[in-house]
Amino acid sequence: MLHKISLGSGDISKYRMVAVKKVIDELVSLGEELKGLRVCHVNSTPFGGGVAELLACQIPLMRAVGIQADWQVIRGDHTFFTITKGFHNALQGAVFSEIESERMKGTYRANNQENAQELDLNYDVFIVNDPQPAALRHYLPENKAKWIWRCHVDSSNPSEAVWNFLRPYVEEHDAAVFTTREFVPKDLNMPKIATMTPAICPLSSKNMFIERNVCRELIANMGFDPQRPLITQVSRFDRWKDPFGTIAAYKLAKEEIPGVQLALIGSFAPDDPEAWDMHAALSSEAIKDDDFYLFSNLTGVGNMEVNAFQRASDVVVQKSIREGFGLVVAEALWKETPVVAGNAGGIPLQMTGELSDYLVNSVEECADKLVYLLQNPDVRERLGKAGKRIVQRNFLISRLARDELRLIKSLVS
Ligand code: UDP
Repeated sequence: MLHKISLGSGDISKYRMVAVKKVIDELVSLGEELKGLRVCHVNSTPFGGGVAELLACQIPLMRAVGIQADWQVIRGDHTFFTITKGFHNALQGAVFSEIESERMKGTYRANNQENAQELDLNYDVFIVNDPQPAALRHYLPENKAKWIWRCHVDSSNPSEAVWNFLRPYVEEHDAAVFTTREFVPKDLNMPKIATMTPAICPLSSKNMFIERNVCRELIANMGFDPQRPLITQVSRFDRWKDPFGTIAAYKLAKEEIPGVQLALIGSFAPDDPEAWDMHAALSSEAIKDDDFYLFSNLTGVGNMEVNAFQRASDVVVQKSIREGFGLVVAEALWKETPVVAGNAGGIPLQMTGELSDYLVNSVEECADKLVYLLQNPDVRERLGKAGKRIVQRNFLISRLARDELRLIKSLVS
C-alpha cells in the first residue's frame, strides 16, 4: 500500500479567530452537506515544496468539518523523478525533448501502473496533484470515484511534446483545477475546469505568531548581526526561483548599503533530483561572502526557523522567473514583511495595489527596489500591513478548502 501521511484533525474555532467569517460559515455548511465523504489527495512527496505544505494543513481542516480526508504519496526512484522533474520544467515552458524516447515514456507509465496497484481505492473522490501521478486513473478499473487533476505550476505555455504526452491522461479525469484561467492549456478538453488559488495555514508552525524579538534572537544565534539589514529568499533549489538572480541583486544592493546580509533558505524534496547540483553551485557562492548564508531543511532549518526568518527580515525576496503561485510570498506578507518578487505566474495575484510596484523583471530592478525599501522603514511598514490584509481576505487555507468542497459537491451531487 502507498504511504498515508499521518495527520490529525483541525479545530475550526481557531480558524474563526483569523479567517473571513463568511468563508468559514460556508465551509462548515459544505462540510455538513458532504459529511463522511471520503476524499484522498495524492502527490509525490510528503515534504519540500508548496503542495506538501498545502496538504499538511488542508487535510486537518477538511477533517475538522466532517470530511474523511487523507493523503497518499506515490513512490518513485531517481530515474522516475528525473523524468517527472523534466515534465514539471516542460509544463513551465522548458524544452524536454527526451520525452520523445519510448524508454522514458515507458518508465513513466510503468511507475504509474505500479503505484495504481498500491493505491488504497476506498475513497469517493481523488485529487491527483501535478504531473507525477497524472496517469494513475488510466491504470485503474472503472470505479465510482470522481477524479480531479490539480495542476500547481504555470502551464500556460507548456512544451508541446510533454503536454501532448500528458494531456490524454489528464483528460481521463472528471475535472481539472488550475491556479488561474491563464494557466489552462488552450487545447485541454475536459467536462469541468475550475480555478482556485493556493493558500497558507495561519495556525501552522510556519505561520503562527512569534514575537519579532524572539525571531531576531534566533537568527542572531545562527550568525547574523541583528543590527544590520537582512533580506531573505525561501524556496526549493530550483532554476525557476532564480536564486542566482537574487544573489546578483543582493550584490548590487550591497554597493549602496554595505551592511546588508542575505539568507537563502532552500529545501530538498525527494521528488526533485535537480536540487543537489543547484545547492552545490550556491554553496560555492556562499563561501565567498561572509554576509551571505545558505541554509536548508537538511541542516535543521525547518518550519519554525523559516517563520523566524520571514518575520525577522527587513525584506523578503522571491525573484522567480516562473511561479505557480509562490506560497512564500503569502507567508511573508502574512507576517507583515514586505516582498520584492518576480513578475511571474501566480505572484502578481498576491501583490496587488501598492505592492505591485515591487514586482520586478530584472536583477537591476530587484536591486533598486531592495535598496529603496531598506532605506524607507515607513514604506516597509505600510506595505507589510497592506500585504497582511490581502492574505487575510484571499489566501488563507479556509478559502481553499471551501473552494475545493464547492467543486467536489458539484461533482458528487
Ligand atoms: N519551504 C520551506 N523550507 C525551505 C524552502 C521552502 O519550508 O527551505 C516551504 C515554503 O515555506 C513554502 C513551500 O516550501 O511553504 C514552497 O511553496 P511555493 O509555493 O513558494 O513554491 P513551490 O515549492 O511549490 O514551487
